[in-house]
Amino acid sequence: MNQINLLGTAFDCSCGKHHRVPTKSLYYQPDAFDHLVATAESVTDKKRYLVVADSRTYEIAGRRVENVLRQSGATVDRFMVPDIKGEPPAADDITRDHILDNAPETDLYFAVGSGVINDLVKWVSFLRKKPFITIATAASMNGYASANVAATIGGLKVLFHADACQAVFALPEIIVDAPDELSSAGLGDVLAKSVSSADWKLNQYLFQDYYCQFSVDLLKDLEPVYLENPNGIRRKDPVAFQALFHALLFSSIAMTITGTSSPASGGEHLISHTLDMIASRDGRKHDFHGRQVGVASILMAALYEKVFSIEQPKFVSPPQKVDAGFWGSLTSIVETEYEKKSRKMKKAASILQEKEKWEGLKSLIKPNLVSPTKLKNCLSEAGAAHRYQEIRDNDQPLESDKFRKVVLNANQMRERFTILDLAVMLGIIPDQIDSLIEDWV
Ligand SMILES: [Zn+2]
Ligand SMILES: [Zn+2]
Repeated sequence: MNQINLLGTAFDCSCGKHHRVPTKSLYYQPDAFDHLVATAESVTDKKRYLVVADSRTYEIAGRRVENVLRQSGATVDRFMVPDIKGEPPAADDITRDHILDNAPETDLYFAVGSGVINDLVKWVSFLRKKPFITIATAASMNGYASANVAATIGGLKVLFHADACQAVFALPEIIVDAPDELSSAGLGDVLAKSVSSADWKLNQYLFQDYYCQFSVDLLKDLEPVYLENPNGIRRKDPVAFQALFHALLFSSIAMTITGTSSPASGGEHLISHTLDMIASRDGRKHDFHGRQVGVASILMAALYEKVFSIEQPKFVSPPQKVDAGFWGSLTSIVETEYEKKSRKMKKAASILQEKEKWEGLKSLIKPNLVSPTKLKNCLSEAGAAHRYQEIRDNDQPLESDKFRKVVLNANQMRERFTILDLAVMLGIIPDQIDSLIEDWV
């Protein structure tokens, strides 16, 4: 795969930006750990390392990493991130402080795990101004080479900028053997790409936003491997898993080099973020990010089909205010975003009223869309969540009324313009959303 050659490079792009890929190497291979010591020594000549894991990831990979590093003569400490009341750790400020207060000083961190451990180490190493290396234990999310930390501070979900890891290591046997629902969550997250890059293009077309075709094309030759052959994931086919892992990694690199989450996050992510936000507001557990994103991606692809079947758009006035009954204590945060969103919707309507502009948008975006049928088949063949009832809300199936309300309101939570907004402007949300949900998810 020639994308690998991009790691650690910097180059001028046709999008006008100078891109820099901070992550310098990826070892996804059976002998990956044989390269740990040399990589660590290329990052720092000091030899005091800290392996950070939780009780599960330590058993899966942490112990081996520790042993390999020790053989190099380095001082290797271990920090175990504790479970909270029998639940796996969370990427929040309390856990961050616990690590800052208790973990030994180090020159180089090793984050052993996927989402949470990776975010925590990215956060702590950034605050301590030390580099870190990632040891991935599942193909579950696209944050491995991202500079962003997704965390909860004071109960609020936030995303902020830190530094990306220096290198990513993964043993295929560990990634393939990870729990099925982790890999299928990873699949849900990468499948969002066809809709999120359509949403990104929409913003460029309507508001002249920055857009980078190069970063959108990064996954081009990987996508067909799992999209055309989804039961490869179910059958634990090594080729399908490698493509999925690489796609997740390069999806995070696309976000890192462009400095925005737009290449991998559109309306489907707003639905997932809304589910997360109302869950933490209510003190409930939400499902894996990628499982929520996968289901929402099918619905977004169906919305694109519906919206683009319209010959001449007739725009209705969107709600003036956010629904305080739905957002509750989150209302004031969402209101600020929705004010900016309302202005964008007005502008979009005035542009797209012109027949020529409407046709121009359709012919620009339609050719790159993946149909909802294809996305749904891919997720169902892979054994991934593809219906909203499969999304867990506090360990129970998500209720129909709750999902419906999330879909109706999700466009209000971020300024970013997506297909959800076009659907609201055209009255498809709320008028036709029940039948779309019933038909597709
Ligand atoms: Zn670019
Ligand atoms: Zn995502």
